[in-house]
Amino acid sequence: MSQSFDVIVLGVGGMGSAACFELARRGRRVLGLEQFPLVHSRGSSHGHTRIIRTAYAEGPAYVPLAQRAFEKWYELEQLTGRHLLTECPCLNVGPPESEHVEGVRASVRTHQLAAEELSGDEINRRFPAFNFPAEYIGVIEHAAGFLYVEECVREHIDSAVSCGAEIHAEEAVRGWKAVGDGVEVTTDKGTYRAAKLVVTAGAWATKLLADIGVPLRVMRQVLLWFGTGNRPELFRRDRFPIFIADVPGMPFYGLPAIDAFGAKVARHYGAPELPDPTGVNWETTGDDVHAMRANFTGFLRGLGEFTKGQVCMYTVTPDHHFVIDLHPAFPQVSIACGFSGHGFKFASTVGEILADLVEHGTTKHDIGLFSARRTF
Ligand SMILES: Cc1cc2nc3c(=O)[nH]c(=O)nc-3n(C[C@H](O)[C@H](O)[C@H](O)COP(=O)(O)OP(=O)(O)OC[C@H]3O[C@@H](n4cnc5c(N)ncnc54)[C@H](O)[C@@H]3O)c2cc1C
Repeated sequence: MSQSFDVIVLGVGGMGSAACFELARRGRRVLGLEQFPLVHSRGSSHGHTRIIRTAYAEGPAYVPLAQRAFEKWYELEQLTGRHLLTECPCLNVGPPESEHVEGVRASVRTHQLAAEELSGDEINRRFPAFNFPAEYIGVIEHAAGFLYVEECVREHIDSAVSCGAEIHAEEAVRGWKAVGDGVEVTTDKGTYRAAKLVVTAGAWATKLLADIGVPLRVMRQVLLWFGTGNRPELFRRDRFPIFIADVPGMPFYGLPAIDAFGAKVARHYGAPELPDPTGVNWETTGDDVHAMRANFTGFLRGLGEFTKGQVCMYTVTPDHHFVIDLHPAFPQVSIACGFSGHGFKFASTVGEILADLVEHGTTKHDIGLFSARRTF
């Protein structure tokens, strides 16, 4: 006989863990199903840190969601007593024609955010590890920081369990189907029924949500850490902010050194697009390291030896905006996928939105940009 729940959450990574928590705290009987051990490093929510920022280059519509995300992360810190978010300024920099920097400015204007404009020279003087061309432009904002990504997922899971959620690790979902106005979910260990289903399957949504009409692709992304050489003080977060460099060829971003591995540097987008996660090489190669070092050498001074690498996946939509909606064919199913290269910061808000969709079929948050029915 199959067990029955109010809600099943398919995939307990960044978004699914938050959804489990928000639903369980609202008194729902929740089952979370995760194919891997909990808080693993084979999806999209690992690699020590994730940037959180407010002056959002990807569009002013994200700003209220980012502001809510800050509140929700602080709330999770307060509930759990764990430190999850470290404030740190974020520098957005690029040539005068940079779309990224122009996007940041548009969000600053629309929402009257505090931000400071700097020339390339001013950036290099204030932050001596940078070496951007004089004509580059930068916008620095202080309503930014980084999240300890694995701890965030862990705390959402533990908090969900504390509120009564059942979370099954190492139990892969083989399929789901609508049964009446509910759902039936089959795993490699059993069958479960629920009134509602939430699909937060990350890169596996390429297969599990192939029917929703949103083209999803997977990018292999490599995170690299480099030692701080003989001037470690230049890479401390008081002298080396988070940065997103919209440079021609290979846009990249980085975070200050917060431990012995040094500063983290990674490419942003531009990797080959894969149909699903099966083709991802999970090893960091010498080519990955050489390409990154060749790319950043002109823009960063004083970084030392390569210390560590990790592979992770972006699940991208054609417009790089997320999909958060009811399933177009089954209103008892809520979906959240395609978080591209910038979704994690919003996980705390996305959990709240998914709980709203499950309970009411709608949410007070403006998620029009993330419609599954938009045209590509
Ligand atoms: C290198 C890198 C850097 C990034 N940097 C930032 C950043 O600085 N700031 C930011 O905001 N965002 C960033 N992102 C994006 C962000 O991390 C992702 O958008 C976000 O983590 C996606 O979360 P998710 O829940 O969709 O996916 P995941 O966390 O991967 O969760 C999906 C889960 O579903 C499970 N699952 C899938 N199929 C099944 C199944 N059949 N049965 C059971 N379980 C299943 C998976 O195992 C997985 O645990 C970055 C991403 C990468 C890869």
